[in-house]
Amino acid sequence: MLCDESLSTVLHIDLSKKSFRTERRPELFEKYLGGAGVAIQLLHENCPKDCDPLGPENPIILAVGPLTALFPLGSKTVAMFKSPHTGNLGESHCGGRSAVALRMAGYGGIVIEGVSETPIYVAVHGNKVYFRDASSIWGLGGIVTGQILREAEAGTGFRTIMRIGPAGERLVSYACVTTETYRHFGRLGLGAVFGSKKLKSVVISGQQSLQVTDQKLYREIYEEIYENAVTSPLMKKYHDLGTAENILPLNELGGLPTRNLQEARLAQAANISGEYFAEHYLGRRLACSHCPVGCIHIAALREPDSVKPYFYKTSMISYDYEPMYALGSMLGGSDAKGLMRLMDQVEALGLDAMSTGVILAWATEAQEKGNISEKETLGLALGWGNYHAYLKAVRFIVEQPNHFYRALAQGVDRASSLYGGRDFALAMGGNEMPGYHTGPASHLGVLIGARHSHLDNAGYSVDQKILAKNLVSPRELAEALLMEEHWRQILSSLVVCFFAREIYKKDVVARALQLSGFSLDPEELIGIGKEIHREKYRFKEREGFSLGQLRIPKRILETPTLVEGWDENYLIKVMESVKEMMAS
Ligand code: SF4
Repeated sequence: MLCDESLSTVLHIDLSKKSFRTERRPELFEKYLGGAGVAIQLLHENCPKDCDPLGPENPIILAVGPLTALFPLGSKTVAMFKSPHTGNLGESHCGGRSAVALRMAGYGGIVIEGVSETPIYVAVHGNKVYFRDASSIWGLGGIVTGQILREAEAGTGFRTIMRIGPAGERLVSYACVTTETYRHFGRLGLGAVFGSKKLKSVVISGQQSLQVTDQKLYREIYEEIYENAVTSPLMKKYHDLGTAENILPLNELGGLPTRNLQEARLAQAANISGEYFAEHYLGRRLACSHCPVGCIHIAALREPDSVKPYFYKTSMISYDYEPMYALGSMLGGSDAKGLMRLMDQVEALGLDAMSTGVILAWATEAQEKGNISEKETLGLALGWGNYHAYLKAVRFIVEQPNHFYRALAQGVDRASSLYGGRDFALAMGGNEMPGYHTGPASHLGVLIGARHSHLDNAGYSVDQKILAKNLVSPRELAEALLMEEHWRQILSSLVVCFFAREIYKKDVVARALQLSGFSLDPEELIGIGKEIHREKYRFKEREGFSLGQLRIPKRILETPTLVEGWDENYLIKVMESVKEMMAS
């Protein structure tokens, strides 16, 4: 029996009919906890096989979990959909106020279906749902849209504003959804799915309160988690410099993808490091709701007006390791101001920063090698670190004025299949690579991961902790990656921030879940994680994905890593082992 019955309530919104209904799904939440576990089931139920990811049948699922709003760092919302970028599973996690607002509104999940004929936004205020005209904000950037909706939807309670920018409206297959200005449902194109439904924004607010059955146990576990969150050295790293702290150590290891991974060290990495940004540009730190860590770092870029003397504009720009790698070292850039301008532009347009950087890096090398010329780029010379050109190129990607930019708007796999340069097109399973070239596990983790993300199983960590000392057998590596991914299904179902994974160990999770009426030991939790993972793969395979058909970009084999002694054959054997283990 779940202590908070609202968690098992799912809100269904039909954009075509402008109607909504709720249903109770306690069996789903009792079996799969919440978050990713429930979302994948709702996706199976509501997404017809082979449907067009940009058609009305593709649903948007949002889900939170039993720890949301109860425990520190239980701050994430899971979104699931069929990805317009890869054609199979779309999954993305976002913090901000999204999770707490959804739960305070009285829901554990939301399913959005259909399509509106005209631009629309949906406001969910507790048990009331409003369909509002969004014609006047269609075409605006994500930041301005947020400012307008904050005024239009002012009220009481906890509120989140999820919205898209021009990239989502123009169906760029890796467009993201922004919440609270600085957090995102990035990766795999949720923004394009919003755009295809003419859905500019989803505003959610609520003011429910949650009951706990055992105050003493709640206080005990809460204090333990809180204490660890504010005192652990790992969390201190996230607070002080944020994930941007990774630039220098990865550069030192030779694992920082540079110039489209032609190299893995950037000579001037110090100029785009977390330390440099903190010393010269850090304007403020922020936190997602119910997080005492506050890893969100915002740079203040003060620049003079181009015309009026003594007039200045200060832009507040969120920075993290991944956008700094993708729009920085991957583009051979070491000019902090140029990098910030590009991050700001990418944010305003509503593009996924990682995919955008990898695509621009491929385009730069493709132009260098003669696959494309200025005829395709419309006069742009995409030299390494040329932020002036990159700022124009991202606008062209969104506007799609010619065949070349239309291809770039569909990702590096698509662009390289049309213009050549497959060997240096750095996508894994169709998704552009993250910022780790540490060894075979970093790339394999993304290749086999259910959402082709470094967050699926943290292969980069396996490289550094295990393989750098001793290259294990393909079977052992497959086991390590799968075991981590199974456990992460539980964290994704609760739903807690992955940065807190060292705090939410199995015994802590088991005890915290007791408060929601679950009686599960660590073994049983792993069993549930394994099942959720299988369900995700069931969806992927249903939509045509096959482990055996994954493309391994040659470039990842050409640039040395700190792990030695592996080759393409080793990668293939690990993937075969994963396949066997998944089938058993
Ligand atoms: S650690 Fe960062 S991303 Fe995670 S919940 Fe806290 S502020 Fe959000």
